[in-house]
Amino acid sequence: MFNVSTIELSTEALRQNLAFIRKVIGADTKLCSVVKGNAYGHGIGTFTALAQRLGAELFAVYSASEAYELKKQLQNGAQIYIMGDADGNALDWAVEHDISFNIFEKNRLSQAIHAGKAQGKKALVHIEVETGMHRTGFPITELPDVLELCRAYPEVIEIKGICSHLAGAESQDNRLRIDAQKTRFKEAITISGLHEPRPAICHLACSAGILNEPDTLYDMARVGILHYGFWPNGETRERFMKAHKLKEDPLMRVIRWWSRVMSVATVPAGGFVGYGNDFQAQVETRIATIPMGYAYGYARSLSNTGHVLVRGKKAPVRGIVNMNCITVDVTGIEGVEKGDEAVLIGTQDGNSISVASFGDLSDQLNYELLTRLPHSIPRVVVEKHH
Ligand SMILES: *Cc1c(COP(=O)(O)O)cnc(C)c1O
Repeated sequence: MFNVSTIELSTEALRQNLAFIRKVIGADTKLCSVVKGNAYGHGIGTFTALAQRLGAELFAVYSASEAYELKKQLQNGAQIYIMGDADGNALDWAVEHDISFNIFEKNRLSQAIHAGKAQGKKALVHIEVETGMHRTGFPITELPDVLELCRAYPEVIEIKGICSHLAGAESQDNRLRIDAQKTRFKEAITISGLHEPRPAICHLACSAGILNEPDTLYDMARVGILHYGFWPNGETRERFMKAHKLKEDPLMRVIRWWSRVMSVATVPAGGFVGYGNDFQAQVETRIATIPMGYAYGYARSLSNTGHVLVRGKKAPVRGIVNMNCITVDVTGIEGVEKGDEAVLIGTQDGNSISVASFGDLSDQLNYELLTRLPHSIPRVVVEKHH
């Protein structure tokens, strides 16, 4: 009810990102919106409602518990797909609600058959193949068995797709491994004979795949980080922009996270700010306190290194990030007062704090930082960021 901070999602940004992605993947490849990790911190309910309004029809989560959360919030019509954890009761629940899921081991396949029989309906499955990630997936040698088993129960198993996941398509350092994965996936499709004559959708590409490895585009691409407006990494951005001779970044950040200045104080020269002696003012300094600390998702590792935007200017974090507040230096910024908006991620008056730079500073990836944004922060949709 009383908000410490707010996360705004930009309709304009998501619309632009989806248009860009659809152009890259082409009309023959369907887009699956990956919304695991609370939609990469964007807020799963708010984000999927917006994405659905902009044409997304299929949402992928990692676990049944995420699927459950999404199901509660999603409007009718969209499909949910679980890429990872669904077991026991959770798997029964998924079958009951026509939620598709990966099968990557015989035990799960038997569970799916069992659930289908018990409920008198079809379990919707994607067969995950091990191609080199070595996480989950059937080895190619087991495929004939798996398919035979599925086909023995046509009334309870419906094969929706065949898939695998790329291990590190964002970097050319992984060239050999990615090439081997592509080859194995092709083999898997051939062996399974699933693509023709009875088509099941084949899908391999994630964000880095669609940008760096166009031959990983089959019938569907599972896109996460890119549709939120972030590149998988800097290497991919540079490579793609150069190859396509782009001058301007085609992506727009969907997220903007802000709080407010709670109070402003003057620290005399020589005074220490906050706990301990991590920061000592060399000259008389104006310090603004913002009610935003590590308890609310602002990483402690940004102590003395992070920045926020106040009145369109960068104010550096001084001293340690506390549990519930940070202190920032606003000495050079004219007229800062209590109640001013403080932007933690995103733009303000033409200046911006990207998660990437926030990330580089604290030595973390965009993915991790975003997903750590607490569920309790209110998410709101706006037409565009100002
Ligand atoms: C997370 C995930 C994706 C999406 O990855 P991005 O790099 O965010 O596009 C695709 N497939 C699987 C199996 C995933 O776990």
